[in-house]
Amino acid sequence: MEASLLRKVDVLIIGAGAAGMMAAAEAGKRGRRVLLVDHAKKAGDKIRISGGGRCNFTNINTSFKQFLSENPRFAISPLKRFSAQDFIGRVRARGIAFHEKTLGQLFCDESAQQIIDMLLDDLHEAGVELRLRTQVHGVEKTENGFLIDLGDERVQAEKLVVATGGKSIPKMGATSLGYDLAQQFGLRVVETRPALVPLTFDQSTLAPIKALAGVALDPVQVSHGKTRFDEALLFTHRGLSGPAILQISSFWREGDQVKVNMLPGQDVFGQLRAARQENGKRAVQTVLSQWLPKRVVEFVMDEHKIAGNLADMSDKKLKTLADSVARWALKPTGSEGYRTAEVTLGGVATDELDNRTMESKKVPGLYFAGEVVDMTGWLGGYNFQWAWSSAWVAGQAV
Ligand SMILES: Cc1cc2nc3c(=O)[nH]c(=O)nc-3n(C[C@H](O)[C@H](O)[C@H](O)COP(=O)(O)OP(=O)(O)OC[C@H]3O[C@@H](n4cnc5c(N)ncnc54)[C@H](O)[C@@H]3O)c2cc1C
Repeated sequence: MEASLLRKVDVLIIGAGAAGMMAAAEAGKRGRRVLLVDHAKKAGDKIRISGGGRCNFTNINTSFKQFLSENPRFAISPLKRFSAQDFIGRVRARGIAFHEKTLGQLFCDESAQQIIDMLLDDLHEAGVELRLRTQVHGVEKTENGFLIDLGDERVQAEKLVVATGGKSIPKMGATSLGYDLAQQFGLRVVETRPALVPLTFDQSTLAPIKALAGVALDPVQVSHGKTRFDEALLFTHRGLSGPAILQISSFWREGDQVKVNMLPGQDVFGQLRAARQENGKRAVQTVLSQWLPKRVVEFVMDEHKIAGNLADMSDKKLKTLADSVARWALKPTGSEGYRTAEVTLGGVATDELDNRTMESKKVPGLYFAGEVVDMTGWLGGYNFQWAWSSAWVAGQAV
């Protein structure tokens, strides 16, 4: 390649998503010459579709405890140095109206685009050059940094930040470049798998679920071992979805069971017995329909071939019925995969990185930030907060 096509920058960042934009703006503010590249047509596409278009941009309760990783404690320092409150401060200063939806989750009142615009303006003010529709053809280590082949030009960068995100939603441009680069440079990558994803079932389990498509239960308690989430569940044509199921999907593994309590906090057996004592002539359906949608009641009764009045029910039968509502045990066969997963579990191993800088311990000058790192949050704004925090830290160091 001709020498004229070689140019120099201080920092090259791959991936103009949440983490890449934050890291670039921070580095730019420090006076670094930053080039931010992305193969997409627009920056921050995942922010745009997040939170149903309103972006659940953080969670006021964020701590390392809401993360899955080989070492969740790795997140403590970045989350402290650039906290949820720090990001909220920026959103407030920008005049973006927001609200707490539930469980500390903060959403824009209007549109996720407001968060993207804020980050784009930050890039502009910090003098960052943003190059979209740009493929990375290769990265080489050189004596004084990295040589990045962008096809029409080669860039010599002192520091390289990889902020390419996870593998979820390939249709939106997700690739494995970040993991491939980590491996190219000898960094260990923790096995990846789709997370925060709807669960799927075999035909016999799916048939009655399908019939309930569109019905929601809010809240249910879904559990996997000792892990539980009290959130909404949604029946779909493909299986089960809704926040409670997405949450548990990050913990579920092939062959495991999940349990659903459709009426958390309620003593269903006790209440059925009390109802029988009060008025045994009432149909069981009528009583259950006080607490659950009619179609779900029919599903439960059909599954257990139970029908009739309360007076006709032995304690044993009432217990079976109560258990089918409060301890519905299911064995998913899989998940909808990266096609619909909100995040990717696993990624660049935290013991390969220094959490004060997000720099590789083996390859000086190489940094990773955001979802590409083995740090996966629960549903509820934690994943963006990790992106902001880890990228802010990298932005101060590069
Ligand atoms: C539907 C959906 C809804 C979500 N809602 C929320 C939410 O409300 N709250 C929350 O906290 N989290 C949410 N998430 C998760 C959140 O979007 C991610 O965790 C977050 O975007 C990660 O930020 P990142 O910068 O690490 O990666 P990304 O935002 O994915 O950015 C990575 C960037 O790298 C680019 N890139 C990838 N490969 C290449 C390549 N080969 N060459 C050049 N560029 C490349 C991509 O184009 C992309 O712009 C949601 C995810 C999805 C899919």
